[in-house]
Amino acid sequence: MFEAGIFRKLATKAIHSGELRVPQIGNYITPIFTSAIYRYPPDKSQIEVRKDKYFKYGREDNPTVRACELKLASIEGGEDALLTSSGMSAIMTCLMSFMRRGLRIVAPLELYGATVKLISMLSSMMDAKVNFVYPTSEELIDEIGRGCDLVFLETMSNPLLRVLDIPEVIKAAHEVEAIVIVDNTFTTPCNFMPINHGADLVVHSCTKYLAGHNDVVAGAIIGEYRMTDEIWEWRRLLGTICDPFSAYLTARGLKTLHVRMKHINESARAIAEFLYEHPKVGKVYYPALPDHPTHDVAIKLLKGFGGVVSFELKVRGQERVFSFMTKLKVIRPSPSLGGCESLIIHPATSSHKDLSPEERMRLGITDELVRLYVGLEDVEEIKEDLDNALRKTS
Ligand code: PLP
Repeated sequence: MFEAGIFRKLATKAIHSGELRVPQIGNYITPIFTSAIYRYPPDKSQIEVRKDKYFKYGREDNPTVRACELKLASIEGGEDALLTSSGMSAIMTCLMSFMRRGLRIVAPLELYGATVKLISMLSSMMDAKVNFVYPTSEELIDEIGRGCDLVFLETMSNPLLRVLDIPEVIKAAHEVEAIVIVDNTFTTPCNFMPINHGADLVVHSCTKYLAGHNDVVAGAIIGEYRMTDEIWEWRRLLGTICDPFSAYLTARGLKTLHVRMKHINESARAIAEFLYEHPKVGKVYYPALPDHPTHDVAIKLLKGFGGVVSFELKVRGQERVFSFMTKLKVIRPSPSLGGCESLIIHPATSSHKDLSPEERMRLGITDELVRLYVGLEDVEEIKEDLDNALRKTS
């Protein structure tokens, strides 16, 4: 019924794995199941949705959701996956299964802002201890070595795209028997697979590259059944399962992920090189550039560097940066990434506005910094758009 894992390569898995194909019907594409109720206790002919569990109620499981979960587990190299209503609900559902009084969490300071806030709020509610560390692999490894129970990482930081030495950080965490959760949203399994490097769990905002068309909000958790069983229980209790239509769109997006990521990796690299040479641009942050602070780790670990390029304008003050952003005609101002449209934000007044000016300075997030996401438009037209707006800004 659900296509099983006989496929070897990511592109083939992304297209065929998990698809719910009914022999009596002959369909190739998984339909959208809207049923919230199922026969229970099950009939002998019904299939298990997961070990010892049958479809029973829409808040627990759904066939369209399950098809997408199996596809995602197969391309991330995990045993199981759970699809959730957003990236944040994936993180929340996952954390709930570990939270307890006295839990010691270590994470880099440069995590996605909402993740920092969620971890901080949950920790203070549950009397856990969280330590946000200046985001270098060395500082994280030192802190982990002092003892902890849970490490939360992102494969690439936002907006400066620092790449952690994930295998080394995971090794340090496992030496103190800590669980490691890796948010792989910015790299996707096309560019990096954390589970192959020992991560216990991977989380995603499927809203970004995985669904890939800016028309879905969804999230995912991938890992071994020994972990996902309890997280499934939390998803059931919290009701954070993804809805069937979003699961359908996410599965549809996954089928072209490898093609989109190849194009995005190439376009973003070309744009980073173009910006690097531009007289109106100061620092450019893209891990493929030799002077990026984590270039060496990035080329060691990643197959591609994704679509985000951050850069500083050679002007002074936020007003001039806003004026540059309004002159762009192809690139749109918006805080997301991973879809077809190129997007731009000003991190100091959006994603990182909750940090103090001192913390922003310490991380390198200046008032003149913008974060560009390079989408699927023609790369020459994106360059022209940037060049026109940059030349008109002084
Ligand atoms: N993780 C990362 C790295 C993100 O960038 C985001 C959103 O921007 C999230 C998690 C949260 O995802 P969602 O917006 O789907 O809840």
